Amino acid sequence: MDDKVKINTSCILLNGDYSYLCLVDWKKAMCLMFSDKVKVLKYSDRIIQGVDKVFRAPAVMVLIKIVRSVYRGRVPFSKKNVLFRDRFTCVYCGKAGKPLTLDHIIPRSKGGKTDWENCVACCRGCNINKGAKTPREARMHLIKRPFQPTIAEFIRIRLEQSTVYGVLVELGIYSAKA
Ligand SMILES: [Zn+2]
Repeated sequence: MDDKVKINTSCILLNGDYSYLCLVDWKKAMCLMFSDKVKVLKYSDRIIQGVDKVFRAPAVMVLIKIVRSVYRGRVPFSKKNVLFRDRFTCVYCGKAGKPLTLDHIIPRSKGGKTDWENCVACCRGCNINKGAKTPREARMHLIKRPFQPTIAEFIRIRLEQSTVYGVLVELGIYSAKA
């Protein structure tokens, strides 16, 4: 999902259970609209000239069938993905908006792995305080437990950090506190 995509040239595609799936460009959206795979929930103001008639481009569509693989598939590990999972917030001091690094909860020097369960977003100050110690040794607390997200969980996390979320709330498809 690209957060910079403009909504007026893209269409929001919802999974069959109305959870957010992705943005598709208007051409792909038009192709889907003429297939029997989606239902249009909302049209945009964009007019598309067809061969002998004009169409309104869809703004929000829902798949007829649920794509279930997103609930089973796992997101590949990367620093960037960990920062998104932790919402660009340090898991030790809870502060956002600082330059972040990846902290190994159990340090690598003590056999800690580089994976979803052992790596968290951490600000430089907390990273320096922690050094090559475990949280217990450093007397530091994790404010939330790290986890391996499924694709669906990760899409949801990314959605909450993007402008698309506001659009879905505005359209009444998501409630503000969902
Ligand atoms: Zn911190």
